[in-house]
Parts: sequence; structure tokens; C-alpha cells
Amino acid sequence: MEEKLKGKIWMYALRNAILHDGKAEVDSVLGGVMSEYEDLKPKEVIDEIEDIVEEVNQLPLEKQEEEAAELGVSLETEKEQREELPEIPEEAEGDVITRAAPNPNGPFHLGNSRAYILSYLYAERNDGRFILRYDDTNPASEEKSPKKKFYDWIEEDLNWLGCEPDLVIRASNRLDVYYEFAYELLEDGNAYVCTCDSQKWKKLRDGKEACPCRNLDPEEQVERWHKMQDGEYEEGEALVRIKTDIGHKDPAQRDWPALRILKDHDHPYVSQDYVVWPLYNFASAIDDHELNVTHIFRAKEHSKNTENQKWLYDYLDWEYPVTVHHGFLSLKGAVLSTSEIRKGTKSGEFEGWDDPRLGTIRALRRRGFQPEAIRELIKKYGIKDTNAEVSMEEFSSINRKIVDSEANRYFFVDEPVEIKVKNPGKKGDIELPLHPERDETRTMKVGDRFLINKQDFESNRGSTIRLKGLYNIKVPEKGQTCEYDGDEIVQEMPKVHWLPQKEEEIIDASVMMPGANKKNGKCEKNVLGEDEGNVIQFERFGFVRVDKKKEEAADFWFTHK
Ligand SMILES: [Zn+2]
Repeated sequence: MEEKLKGKIWMYALRNAILHDGKAEVDSVLGGVMSEYEDLKPKEVIDEIEDIVEEVNQLPLEKQEEEAAELGVSLETEKEQREELPEIPEEAEGDVITRAAPNPNGPFHLGNSRAYILSYLYAERNDGRFILRYDDTNPASEEKSPKKKFYDWIEEDLNWLGCEPDLVIRASNRLDVYYEFAYELLEDGNAYVCTCDSQKWKKLRDGKEACPCRNLDPEEQVERWHKMQDGEYEEGEALVRIKTDIGHKDPAQRDWPALRILKDHDHPYVSQDYVVWPLYNFASAIDDHELNVTHIFRAKEHSKNTENQKWLYDYLDWEYPVTVHHGFLSLKGAVLSTSEIRKGTKSGEFEGWDDPRLGTIRALRRRGFQPEAIRELIKKYGIKDTNAEVSMEEFSSINRKIVDSEANRYFFVDEPVEIKVKNPGKKGDIELPLHPERDETRTMKVGDRFLINKQDFESNRGSTIRLKGLYNIKVPEKGQTCEYDGDEIVQEMPKVHWLPQKEEEIIDASVMMPGANKKNGKCEKNVLGEDEGNVIQFERFGFVRVDKKKEEAADFWFTHK
């Protein structure tokens, strides 16, 4: 194990011991270490933690405090150390269960990631549980229908974000559970099977009038329910409604629909034998109770769902979870709407669900945004109930702080022009720093021919410019031959990036830009030493993610300046 990690474990153990009368606990130390090293697997460190905890616990408290002071261990309590996320009602250690409930009809995007990430973060900080529940009971339309690949993508994206669920379930796998509760509600007279024509029903509802089905005996309701199950009704002919207040001021809350008939629709996991399907409000409300969910994070535009579902909870004598209604988060300039994205991918306007113009998690990932940056952003807006449009600049600045210290530096020249330098001051191997704050270097062999950006060249005709890390050259008024002009670094002199015009030193490079246009050019061959997925910086151009390495070429995606 690397020393740095060992040192961290030691610090966590000291801190935990001092806060608990000199006795550290393995689980708490593990939790602390895991929160800092997200890629770590518990089994990789547990032995080491056990050893260190034992060692620390043998020290007297004064000795622990002495060591902690020396190492600069912060002794704030965990509560004080909590990030910016505010306290929510009934937040209690070990007693927070949250869930994300996406319909797998598309991948998730920055907008809906807010509820999921908040759910995860609150569960995490209270050592609770985070459940991924696929809300996949709507195979009725092409738009809403769940697709197998989206189940996979959502889970993959959540894991990538560091929000690994403790449990994954599909609502479609629980139809029998919903049936049981529907039956109970019908039997108790709290729900009814409505066979009215939908237009006629709406008219009655708008006039605050009950339809004839509402007051039928429970025995009759149960009989109708069996007929629903047996497929005796066609689509649209029967609907289970939850009785609410037919005089409620909001028409949408009057006797809302809970289950309906759907026939001959394909579902990726469930056979067509099932003809009764629950609607979102019904299935979701039941599962939240059945899964012991304590806190629901829900965009405030869906707050009506909360009101509707509370009727059900009252009938079943359940306690409704704490609900946090937050605002909607959008990303300026990025397309977030699932239906718009679907249309665009179908028509060919977008290259796919990760087209750089989209705000899907997959698109942001491919561009080089880091999971930590997305989590930071969500934390920053927290549980505020106002809608917010995040600018690309704001998002980029959070991401830049994360990638800047790691990203290696290279040269990429788009729109290259070839120049020649007369009597060059240096030839052969040139070492350039891989990162301004590290000692590592990269090497390029130079002669007297170079590639530089056309704009850099043309706009400096007649002046002296510096080839970064090399020497100064005088750009001619006409032609392509420059004069070597000394080595001295002059503050105000333009400094440009360059490439040796040598086949063995450079490769073709193509950068996918945020507008889905490509910038083509050449870059250092050194880049091939990077792994696909790494974020690097093309100096004076911007941060890019290495998307695909090829034999003598590479593709990149532009992250931000
Ligand atoms: Zn009716």
C-alpha cells in the first residue's frame, strides 16, 4: 500500500479515537478513508485499517492528541465537517433511506441527476441506504416505454458518479405487490373501478360530481377488478381510481387514476400476460413505503404527486416520508429534454445520446467533466427550491479546479502552417514540462522546420514571437522563413505553441468541439502515452479528453478552456 494512503488512515484513526475517548472504530475509519478515495475497494484497505486502529487504540489519549496536533489532524466533529448541504428534517445517523426512481426510457441528464445525487449524498452522510428503483410500468407508448439499454446506462452512470446504489429493483417485477394493495383499497371502499368513458368522466369531475362507479358496493368493485385481471376489458375501458375529495379545489387531485389496462405492449422484462399496469403515483407511493424510504427528493414541479400519494398513505395508515421539494437545474446551452434528444437522435441531428451538445451524463462524461465536478455542482445548489440555469462557465470552473492539477500539457496545432527557421538556436531533443507544477518532462526532437497555427503566424508578421519552451523567432513580412532571434524570455512577447515538422514526432489530431463541429490538426505523438479517457491540456487551446487512440492519430473531445 502506498505510504500516502497509510498516512491518511493513520490520521483518520487518530481523529476518530480522540473524538471517541481514545478508541477508534474500524468502520468509522473505513468510512472516512472511502469518502476521500472513491476508487478504493473496502477489501483493499480493511486489513491495514484494522492494524492501524489497533495500534492507535493502544496509545493513551494524550499521546494520540499529541500526534494529531503534530500531523495537523482536524478535530472538528463530523457534523461540523459536513459539506454545504443543509440539514433536513428527521435526518438521523443510520436512519436515512433514499431512492432514485427513474423511468428507463432515456439516459439521465444533469437535470434529473439532482434528485438522485442529493438522495445519494444524504444517505451517504448518514450511513443510510440508497435505492435505485426503476419506475418501468409504462410500456404504453414508444416515448415512455422502458428500454433495456437505458437500465444499464442509468446504473453505469450512477456508479460513475460515485453514487452506487445499495439495492436495485424494478417496479415491473413487483406488479403482484401493487395488485394486492389495489385489492385491499377496493375491498375497503377507498378505491373504485371506473368504467366510464374518459370524456364523460372529466366532465363530471370538472363539475365536482362523482361518477356512477364510485358508489358501487365493494363486492361489485372486487368483481370488476377480477374482470380487469382476466382481460375482459379492453384498453381504456376500465381504470382503478383512488377516492380523494371529489370537491377538491385542484381538479387533478380528484379521484386520481392508479391502475389501468394495457394490452399487447412489449416490455423488456415482463410478459404480455399482464394487462393491468399501475401508474406512477400508485406504484411509487407503495414502493416508498415497502422499501422503508425515509426521505424523498423531488423536483417541486412534481409536488402534486406528494399531495396525491398522501391519500393513499392515509387509507393504508402509513406514514409519508419526509419530502424535500427542490428546484430544477438546467445547463445553459445544453439540451436536456429526453423527448427532444430522442427526436434528434432519430432524425440524425444528434450523433447519439452523448452528442456534445447534450446535457446527458454520458455526454458530459465523454467531454471530460469529472464525477466530482457534477457532485460539487449539485451540492452547491443543494435543496434550494428555486429553478436555476447553470452557465457552462460556472460548471467549467468547478471542473477545471479538479482536472488542472492532473492534466498533462501537450501541443496541438490546428490550421497548421509550415515555417522554416534560419540558423536555429537549438536542434535535437528538447525537453518540455509535462505539467508546470511537476518535474516530469516530455521530449520532442526538433530541426529547422515547424508547424504553428496560421493565425499565430499571420497576425505576427514582422514581429518577434517566442516558440514556447524553445527560443524566439522573427516572423517575416513575406514568405515562410523566419530568423532565429535569441533565447531571452521577454514578458510581453507573444508565446506560441508549435510542433516539429517531423513525421516521427507528430500525429493527426481531431477535436470534437461543444457545437459538434470538429477541429483538425496535428499534435505531439507523446499524447499516445496517455490512456483513453484521460483529460489533458492542449496548451493555449483548452482541456480535452482523450477519446480514441489510433495507430498514428487520436481523437479528442473538448472539455473547456
Ligand atoms: Zn365511472
